[in-house]
Amino acid sequence: MRLFDTTTLPPQEETSDKPVIGYVHSIESFGSVDGPGIRYIAFLQGCRMRCEYCHNPDTWNIGVGEEMTAEDILDDAMRYKSFWGETGGITCSGGESLIQIDFIIDLFTKAKAMGITTCLDTSGGPFTRDEPWFSKFEQLMAVTDISLVDIKHINSDEHRKLTGFGNENILDMIQYMSSHDCDMWIRHVLVPTRTDFDVYLAQLGDYIKTLHNVQKLKFCHITRWGSISITNWASSTHWKAFKRPRLIGLRTRRICYT
Ligand code: SF4
Repeated sequence: MRLFDTTTLPPQEETSDKPVIGYVHSIESFGSVDGPGIRYIAFLQGCRMRCEYCHNPDTWNIGVGEEMTAEDILDDAMRYKSFWGETGGITCSGGESLIQIDFIIDLFTKAKAMGITTCLDTSGGPFTRDEPWFSKFEQLMAVTDISLVDIKHINSDEHRKLTGFGNENILDMIQYMSSHDCDMWIRHVLVPTRTDFDVYLAQLGDYIKTLHNVQKLKFCHITRWGSISITNWASSTHWKAFKRPRLIGLRTRRICYT
């Protein structure tokens, strides 16, 4: 079963008079946590998941945002090349970056030709082995140096409660990456009353132990500013409140285990 409709953004193929267009939410020129080293990060617009704790719901809408070509991004990114050293480079994040797979293939292919390292930050939601999407994904992996993969929840039913979708296709994507020697970091958000149970963390650990090429495991611990105490988080009122863009008092505390 296709868990995500990946067809909302129509396939794009570059022609001499029609470049592939990316819809960009925002740019961070000096990112230090979304991939190795210092990185130029393009946050792409569009996401189908509806994570209860999402603090960027303004990235959800698909097919909106600033229209940019790969050349636009590379021209801008190259201004910061001197900061990248040997490990830094370009990251595509989101929203959900894989919603714009045609654009990322175009960007990463051109970046690699310029000697720039590439990093894909994804929650894996659009992954499918259906064609033509799967062939595009294989094309993308060929020009991706490393992937940052969010596992929102190791249990599919709980994943569905947390995000609106099951995780079968996401674990399938991770399996593909593992069996094809695609370097990856795994990221997991510790969400009070949702993911921070010993049983799920043990399952997650057992699963990750089966994977090859996991270079780093990152836990992001959500905390909250303001007056609502952590014990109130599970109330439906406050979970609903998290979905409002104006609530910007969320932050993540990132903990890295290497
Ligand atoms: S994957 Fe979840 S946290 Fe990330 S943009 Fe989509 S809804 Fe928000």
